Amino acid sequence: MKIICVGRNYVAHARELNNEIPDEPVLFMKPDSALLRNNDPFYIPEWSSDVHHEIELIVRIKKLGKNIDKKFAHRYYGEIGIGIDFTARDLQNSLKDKGLPWEKSKAFDHSAVVCPEFVPIESLPDRNTIHFRLDINGKTVQEGNSALMIFPVDDVISHVSKYFTLKMGDLIYTGTPSGVGPVKIGDRLEGFLEGKKKFDFWIK
Ligand code: ZN
Repeated sequence: MKIICVGRNYVAHARELNNEIPDEPVLFMKPDSALLRNNDPFYIPEWSSDVHHEIELIVRIKKLGKNIDKKFAHRYYGEIGIGIDFTARDLQNSLKDKGLPWEKSKAFDHSAVVCPEFVPIESLPDRNTIHFRLDINGKTVQEGNSALMIFPVDDVISHVSKYFTLKMGDLIYTGTPSGVGPVKIGDRLEGFLEGKKKFDFWIK
């Protein structure tokens, strides 16, 4: 399987990092070795002193597709989850300054947290306005709603599939809302989807 991530999909987050508002989705990938599942703890790598949390809605692809038309994109996913796109911001900034690819700062081991259980889209009140949030040590630090995405899920799937064949089990991380910031040893991260807790793990 592969993990495809969208960068800068919320206006407020693009602004907080002084990035331009993109006119097409910004994409990057993580390998399967980036996955962190089952509420396992996250260990801050020794080569970074500024690892940021980015909570994101995650879509799981349920069938093979290439060049998917936007109006058929909904047929390719049936479940939504949440997770964290951990980002070594210090390394990402130095790579960006040099015009180099981001991979080391974004795709490193265990940088892709995924909640243990996804929920069927039909069980959500409205597939176009999905609310999610991240609490750290009991305090809400990030809140998002899929209605505020610059590129909604169906647009993302259509765009991604022009370049990369989508396969069953692939995950798409759809971008983070504003409020990103560093994590530290001892933090407890809890993610909520429509008010229901979906992940709960510690930083070590
Ligand atoms: Zn992200």
